[in-house]
Amino acid sequence: MAKNYRAQLVGVFGCPVDENPTIAMQEAAFQAAGLNWRYLTLLVKPEDLGDAFKGLRAMNFAGINLTVPHKVEALKYVDELSEEVKLIGATNTVVNRGGRLVAYNTDGKGFVEGLRQRGVDLTGKRIVMLGAGGAARAIGVECALAGAAEIVIINRSASRGETLASLLNEKTECRASFIPWEGSAHIPPCDILINSTSVGLYPDPSCPDVVYEDIGPDMIVQDVIPNPADTLFLRRARQQGAQTFDGLSMLVCQGAIGYKLWTGQDAPVPVMLQALEKENQ
Ligand code: NDP
Repeated sequence: MAKNYRAQLVGVFGCPVDENPTIAMQEAAFQAAGLNWRYLTLLVKPEDLGDAFKGLRAMNFAGINLTVPHKVEALKYVDELSEEVKLIGATNTVVNRGGRLVAYNTDGKGFVEGLRQRGVDLTGKRIVMLGAGGAARAIGVECALAGAAEIVIINRSASRGETLASLLNEKTECRASFIPWEGSAHIPPCDILINSTSVGLYPDPSCPDVVYEDIGPDMIVQDVIPNPADTLFLRRARQQGAQTFDGLSMLVCQGAIGYKLWTGQDAPVPVMLQALEKENQ
């Protein structure tokens, strides 16, 4: 029987220091679905991003993921922006639709989907978010679109925090405010507390400098850090009685959304989660 040796390619444009667990997750998904697809790590320097996009078009990639520092710059090289990308101002997933490159952002959608799968409805919720970087922007926008009533942003850099609060107030129905992060930050009363800073990402064993006694048993606490999955932040939140969710669920959900955008098929989520957990061991 004739065999199809021509694989369909998807990849991730990362920076030279990038260590990306999504490769194992997407490759496991393609294999489980019997798709002759490959997911490649492509180390792209910032100054070469335009050329990398030309290569992507020339080699007819089905799409691409983008990691820091390419998520904003990449917008210059695509043909179309999805609604969430117009709001967030950054993309992590590009789909090649017959030669037209369409930019999406699955980070915030993955976050919301991860909570939804655990029975958490964001409608009317009061959220406190630590951080105002790329992940926080995506999460803030999608939580607002999913019906959150209020988002309080706590961040070190006032300009990033104020910009995100203004974006949410101007472009969504959600009320947003900013509190500068000075010393150990108090957590205002809320339903959901999110760490969307990079504090706690391997090899950093620390946790965000907040007053953990402010966390209570009626709160849901979510970390975006996928590695390690059980961060010190989550462990300290559990000591206060809070229900906690780790960054792996968000990573799998955003990956599953990307998989569907590229292949048109529902993703084998349990296989993807298993592959990620194995990577983290
Ligand atoms: P950015 O560099 O854009 O933002 C980093 C944020 O962390 C900023 O708000 C920064 O504050 C804050 N920060 C960094 N160090 C400290 C510190 N010591 N104390 C207080 N705040 C600090 O990164 P991203 O937003 O793109 O990524 C953040 C994290 O999210 C990463 O660890 C990444 O792995 C994770 N992530 C997880 C995903 C998942 O699916 N689970 C998806 C995407 C990202 P300031 O503005 O003051 O510098």
